[in-house]
Amino acid sequence: MCCSIIGYYSYGKKAAPVLVQGLKRMEYRGYDSVGVATLDIGNSKKKEDEKPNSIIVRKGIGKVSEVNNSAKLDRLPGRMGIGHTRWATHGKVTDANAHPHTSSIGQIAIVHNGIIENFEEIKNELIQDGYVFKSETDTEAIANLLQKNYNQTKDVKESIIQTVARLQGEYTFVAMFEDGRLAAARLHKPLILGIGEENIFLASDVLGFIEYTDNAVYVENGNVVIINKDTTAFEMLDFDGSPVKYEITKVSKEFGDAYKGEYAYFTEKEINEQHETVIKAGQLTESEITRAAKAIKDASGAIYLTGSGSSYNAALIAKHFLSKQARIGAEVIMASEMQFASEGIGKGSVLVAISQSGESADVLNAIRIAKKAGCDTVISVVNIMTSSLVHESDICIGMNCGLEIGVAATKSFTSQLVVFYKIISQIISRNNKSSLDQYTDHQGKQDQFCAHDNGDEKNNIRYMSKLIRQILKHPTKIQKVARELKDVSDIYILGRGVHYPIAVEAALKIKELTYIHAEGIAGGELKHGPLALMDSNVYVIIINPNDYTYEDTLTSAREIKARGANIIGISDIKSDIYDHWIEIPKIDRKLNGNKSPIYAVLEIIPVQILAYYVALEKDTDPDYPRNLAKSVTVK
Ligand code: GLU
Repeated sequence: MCCSIIGYYSYGKKAAPVLVQGLKRMEYRGYDSVGVATLDIGNSKKKEDEKPNSIIVRKGIGKVSEVNNSAKLDRLPGRMGIGHTRWATHGKVTDANAHPHTSSIGQIAIVHNGIIENFEEIKNELIQDGYVFKSETDTEAIANLLQKNYNQTKDVKESIIQTVARLQGEYTFVAMFEDGRLAAARLHKPLILGIGEENIFLASDVLGFIEYTDNAVYVENGNVVIINKDTTAFEMLDFDGSPVKYEITKVSKEFGDAYKGEYAYFTEKEINEQHETVIKAGQLTESEITRAAKAIKDASGAIYLTGSGSSYNAALIAKHFLSKQARIGAEVIMASEMQFASEGIGKGSVLVAISQSGESADVLNAIRIAKKAGCDTVISVVNIMTSSLVHESDICIGMNCGLEIGVAATKSFTSQLVVFYKIISQIISRNNKSSLDQYTDHQGKQDQFCAHDNGDEKNNIRYMSKLIRQILKHPTKIQKVARELKDVSDIYILGRGVHYPIAVEAALKIKELTYIHAEGIAGGELKHGPLALMDSNVYVIIINPNDYTYEDTLTSAREIKARGANIIGISDIKSDIYDHWIEIPKIDRKLNGNKSPIYAVLEIIPVQILAYYVALEKDTDPDYPRNLAKSVTVK
């Protein structure tokens, strides 16, 4: 999955507290163990022949604050150091496998994000050469290989170049040499250089240093950074050792906004921001939305959508709207499945790739595979606009929802839906309106999908925002239901039409935040299997807004009720069938356009709130669900 790494050198400030603070800020990325290594380089006047101080490492399993409390990471001496939060890929979650890892003679310490595919081969060779391994990680192979190359070359730059030439896989690492130098290499994992006046940083995320500087260099793939001894001066090289150009950019201030404010958890804060984030969705990239609509509408080949997790569910919803409203067929391919499903992708096709972080390895892989198979245009929907996905896309739309720290996607998901709402509105406004579909609600009234000029779309989103605010203001009923769900072992969520992928997303939120088994069911599929599971121990959430799916969904609810299961209805219409009714606001019939996209956004929010409160009831951490990480940067 993913982790965070940090490296730091300062003229005057102690490194350890800065490293620990940076790791805390980046903790959302991965967090099963933590470690810091520092080097007490004393004052910079140390003579050349004086023996260097040695590297000190402290590490352990748990969250940053836990390990810091027990191991006092922030008390380590020295003005330079490296730090890591791990998301284990090679070797169990143990103290020994936590980073940093040192070479067997301890002259070099390494923190690493990613995987080294050929580590076993390298490790076996090094063992033959007498190197000793203390962990099960692939990382230790880098540390010892670097040491071997350093012993031979006596040169930091040469040893790094020789080391990266040997490594296969996807990785970023930062190495600290006992002689007082820091070096890093990047291949398909993020690395950002933060340049302060008195200090310099290497980090996976700008959050690692944003308090100290907003001058950053986004290190390119296949580049190496070497920070010279006792200065903040650095060299940027390619993997052959040739100098490369780089650009210093100003980091957006919004990244500094990673504070919980009045909220107990980031997840709570992010859920409660959604009335604002739906308005902001795609706002800074309106021209890209227009380009995306045109590319989809004019495509000579097929339209594909891809994503993972919540982004995959957003893709399913986008497919539904494309088909139902714009009359454009599209296929959704799960990002991790693209490698097994790309054969049919041909020339003229368009791929829409969705990823909050823009660093999801599965999504990046999927677009590369699709391009190889002939796909001409990649449109991405991304939140982090400095990410790899942005660089690899032809058209890129920003979700613009601000930093999302909570591992379970909330505001980014609703932003994705609004971005698609905007794209599809633009496609429709290009279409011949007379050919458009008409919908009826359960009372048979026509809900015509009519004019969608920009004005309507903006008004509708403002209206959606107002309704979201109403839901957010009244969590009490949901809190009550959460208390009842605390000890339940299975929850099913049922919906039809576009509300089925919402049910799947709802199940994902429940799994991630509460560890309760949850499953989304398409209403019509009930009788083809899931009905066998229904009894009085089971809870079923019925997603049933007043649109074209209403009557059929109510019939499903009756069938479930007849088997004794407990029913939670999420609807704008009250019904006796529901044991608990979670009310969503009614949508004004005067709304210009179809109601279903607005319902889709409204109905997921009560489930996010519910899952959040069940997590609190169960005393689990909603921001950092066990075994998961925010941006999944390994395959
Ligand atoms: N592969 C390394 C390990 O398992 C690094 C994992 C990470 O990115 O945290 O320790």
